[in-house]
Amino acid sequence: MMIDTQLVPRGIKQKEVLHAMFTVPRHIFVEDGLYSQAYSDFPLPIGEKQTISQPYMVALMTESLGLTGREKVLEIGTGSGYQTAILSFLAEKIYSIERIPTIASRARKTLDALHCSNVIVRVGDGTLGWPEEAPFDAIIAAAGSPRVPSAYMDQLRAGGRLIMPVGAEDSQELIRITKKENNIVREVLGGCRFVKLIGKDGWQ
Ligand code: SAH
Repeated sequence: MMIDTQLVPRGIKQKEVLHAMFTVPRHIFVEDGLYSQAYSDFPLPIGEKQTISQPYMVALMTESLGLTGREKVLEIGTGSGYQTAILSFLAEKIYSIERIPTIASRARKTLDALHCSNVIVRVGDGTLGWPEEAPFDAIIAAAGSPRVPSAYMDQLRAGGRLIMPVGAEDSQELIRITKKENNIVREVLGGCRFVKLIGKDGWQ
């Protein structure tokens, strides 16, 4: 139902994305009491004032990265690990950073239960990226920032894509940046509302 009533009617087309979202059980990423709402059309609390993103937002962001299966991906804001699991189906290796240790360890357990062995989760300030593993073919941040952290542009490979919400605390634009050999293309994919990206090059 999530695929047929939320994703396809809003224009999600890439069959690999739809297949990954059909395959990954979303209910194991939410708290027990919220199982019955796990496939609903809104974000849900995951503790520590954070949320698991709305399914459509996960689909849109993933599709916008245009993954082929061979990419090295940097994800900032592991959260529940749901987006991470979807990425792990669609790219070669995922490096995911989460600021809050309890959230990171819960995500790790859920990802292990799904045998997502191509994912590394680390606790830290994701506004600095993951310099030791750069460059990345794709970068995705699931938390909103007043600007694109400079580390992301440095750590994105030429030809690579970055998706993240940029704007004010209570509403942002979903931005896609494509880094070409000689220029940078910046597109606005729509309005959105994410939790804050908190760190040295985000919100204080
Ligand atoms: N896609 C995730 C979204 C989680 S919410 C999901 O669907 O579950 C965003 C997450 O970003 C939160 O868990 C928050 O703690 C984390 N976050 C915020 N600032 C961060 C930073 N600087 N580095 C890493 N993670 C950060």
